[in-house]
Amino acid sequence: MFAKIIDGKKISEELRLETAKKIKNRKEGLRAPGLAVIIVGDNPASRIYVNNKKKACEACGITSYEYALSESTTEQELLSLINELNNNTEVDGILCQLPLPCHIDENKVIDAISPEKDVDGFSPVNTGNLLAGKPCFAPCTPAGVVEMLKHESIEISGKHCVIVGRSNIVGKPAALLMLQENATVTVCHSRTKNLKDMVKQGDIVIAAIGKANFITADMIKEGAVVVDVGINRLESGKVTGDVDFEEVSKIASAITPVPGGVGPMTITMLMQNTLSAWERFS
Ligand code: NDP
Repeated sequence: MFAKIIDGKKISEELRLETAKKIKNRKEGLRAPGLAVIIVGDNPASRIYVNNKKKACEACGITSYEYALSESTTEQELLSLINELNNNTEVDGILCQLPLPCHIDENKVIDAISPEKDVDGFSPVNTGNLLAGKPCFAPCTPAGVVEMLKHESIEISGKHCVIVGRSNIVGKPAALLMLQENATVTVCHSRTKNLKDMVKQGDIVIAAIGKANFITADMIKEGAVVVDVGINRLESGKVTGDVDFEEVSKIASAITPVPGGVGPMTITMLMQNTLSAWERFS
């Protein structure tokens, strides 16, 4: 069997066009949605992510406001900026690019973002609402995974979804979102025993580990759907996922590539969350 390759780039383009259309057709006199993006320091990967987010905003008709702060910015200065943005009526969404320099407490920063503007979906209020199954901003990466599966008409209800990784930004929220879609969910991590046997039970496998080619073909059940969240930069400069794409695609029924899979969907969901934040205010 050769897996269907789920083209996250193409799905993203379609969804971004829909978002752009909604914004373009807004009521006369209504301002466009606004997204404030804060970046602290000069982490090259963060700079690439922020630039991609700005480009996506432009394509959708969202006004982006960039706040590029120096590495020496204090926690208090950052918290004051967030407070200002919380009160800025032109700004619907606020995102602070992570990771932050070590002298700044990331949790304090995330907590300071008003839940109504927390389009990354990391604040305790949004996390709590996600857990309770209430309306919320879901974290963009796992939300993008679910959106992709739905777009491809892949059945989730009743399926066994095995997630490898339990981070707050990917693994845990992915588990909650898949539960909401009525999957039976298993979450694996670095202390999981018999990982191979666990993963092999998955009808849907979501890999969010951060280790290149970690999920190999012998871990995958014939016909499973494999979603690769990982982004790993090899010494050669090549970017690869957590899944051995070449071998696993001979076993799986559908698979997401890296690049061009979950990555573009993450930014698309950020655009959708910003649109939702704006719709609530407008
Ligand atoms: P974290 O490092 O926060 O979490 C990694 C998880 O993998 C942990 O739960 C860890 O377990 C688990 N893990 C590590 N080693 C093993 C192992 N040997 N066996 C089983 N589980 C293991 O990473 P993130 O969740 O933030 O990101 C995961 C990957 O996804 C990264 O490559 C990241 O770059 C990528 N990513 C991609 C995004 C996108 O837009 N496509 C967005 C966000 C992340 P434990 O908890 O026990 O340590």
